Amino acid sequence: MIQIKDKHDCCGCSACQQRCPRHCITMREDSEGFFYPEVDTDACVDCGLCERVCPLANPGNPKHWMEVIGAKNRNEDELLGSSSGGVFINLARNVIAEGGIVFGAVFDGSWNVVHTYADSIDGVWAMMGSKYVQSDINDSYIKAERFLEDGRIVLFTGTPCQVAGLNRYLRKSYPNLLSVDFLCHGVPGPGVWHMYLDEIRRSAGGTTRPCEDTNRMVITGISFRDKRIYGWDKYCFVVRGSTAVTGESAVLMSDVYVDNPFMKGFLNDVYLRPSCYRCKCKGGVSGSDITLADYWGVKTLLPDFADNRGVSLVFVNTDKGKTAAERLDMDFCAANINGLERYNGGMKAVLREGWRRRTFFHELGDGRSFSAALNSALAKPWYNTALHGLRKAVRRIIFKRTNDEDRNIDASATH
Ligand SMILES: Cc1cc2nc3c(=O)[nH]c(=O)nc-3n(C[C@H](O)[C@H](O)[C@H](O)COP(=O)(O)OP(=O)(O)OC[C@H]3O[C@@H](n4cnc5c(N)ncnc54)[C@H](O)[C@@H]3O)c2cc1C
Ligand code: SF4
Ligand code: SF4
Ligand code: SF4
Repeated sequence: MIQIKDKHDCCGCSACQQRCPRHCITMREDSEGFFYPEVDTDACVDCGLCERVCPLANPGNPKHWMEVIGAKNRNEDELLGSSSGGVFINLARNVIAEGGIVFGAVFDGSWNVVHTYADSIDGVWAMMGSKYVQSDINDSYIKAERFLEDGRIVLFTGTPCQVAGLNRYLRKSYPNLLSVDFLCHGVPGPGVWHMYLDEIRRSAGGTTRPCEDTNRMVITGISFRDKRIYGWDKYCFVVRGSTAVTGESAVLMSDVYVDNPFMKGFLNDVYLRPSCYRCKCKGGVSGSDITLADYWGVKTLLPDFADNRGVSLVFVNTDKGKTAAERLDMDFCAANINGLERYNGGMKAVLREGWRRRTFFHELGDGRSFSAALNSALAKPWYNTALHGLRKAVRRIIFKRTNDEDRNIDASATH
């Protein structure tokens, strides 16, 4: 039976839970707000299935992509509603047109990020846009398997580890399955996400406009990657809602990503899932047909193609992926991925799991707020502060000595 001794060894895909024939695995939240499987040992019959479907216990081999292209959606609404070039919605349209099913991540009514499926383009719309929180995959693998067995075309989208989990769960390949993942920077957990959301609710309208009647604060929309304000490369974290102050639904806060606390913690690797720091599913290991990414750097490389509304990179990994990519109705450009690691966190093999993460969760454990813990985690390390102080002191001493010498020269000159 599955036993998690080291948290780096579980990405939380829940393939084990969904495959267990005795239904004796429960996904439980840990103190950092991530979910891990827990086995009811009394009900377990030790069949070993959970270990066999685990993508981290049985990692695949890295695989080089067949080709990579740049792509941009021609439809204004679709492009602006997507995080990068709007490839996902174009793939989904083709699948829906053939009577297929699309799986992806949406917000539920309580702003949890959850996996669901849709058989209409209206349902797919909610999946658009990156949500930088680990999605609850719930029973998506079970449902996807049923659709596949019924002969329906299934487009399954998710993180590389979710796609790897699906492939291990299915244990055979289906010609009617198209799996799509993305270059993955990692995922924060639902626990930290909700702590941050509570802080937003408490200070509706951001730090400048505190809301007196917080009970009336209703969030109506969240976008981690809003391009409508400053464009794609200066994307904003935007919360829409209504409060006692605003009445109707309005933008309650909009931060350029570098200024938003949640995004700062995410991009500085402060609170990612432990498995993300030693990811075993990136680099073609997941078995996905297509991998999507932001084509950061396109502005420098192809300024005529980039218009600051988003361009995607499409890594084609399999023949099935190639057929799907050829059916995309989009504008294309050549892709140069040399040196992409400089621009793209998802290309990095190893992320920094260090004192920032330890500080953050230690302070949360001590009862401090999300913001207070994040500020401590992002503060300069003590040795940087000490070095800075030392440099200032030395500069002051040198400055004082030079002034004293000048004064002595002046004094001797007057005598
Ligand atoms: C957690 C996360 C980390 C990422 N890290 C990088 C990175 O480092 N570098 C990079 O180039 N790209 C990264 N991406 C992918 C990138 O942000 C775009 O989603 C991708 O380029 C596809 O863009 P699009 O415009 O085609 O479609 P979009 O409409 O933006 O993509 C939506 C797709 O993303 C899926 N999705 C959204 N949120 C989640 C979630 N929490 N879990 C699982 N699936 C989700 C949806 O189901 C849908 O399939 C990341 C995405 C996520 C969700
Ligand atoms: S060994 Fe079998 S019965 Fe036991 S938890 Fe794993 S899958 Fe379930
Ligand atoms: S990685 Fe997935 S299958 Fe493996 S133990 Fe964790 S939740 Fe279960
Ligand atoms: S970095 Fe790896 S382990 Fe983390 S969410 Fe992405 S694919 Fe999963």
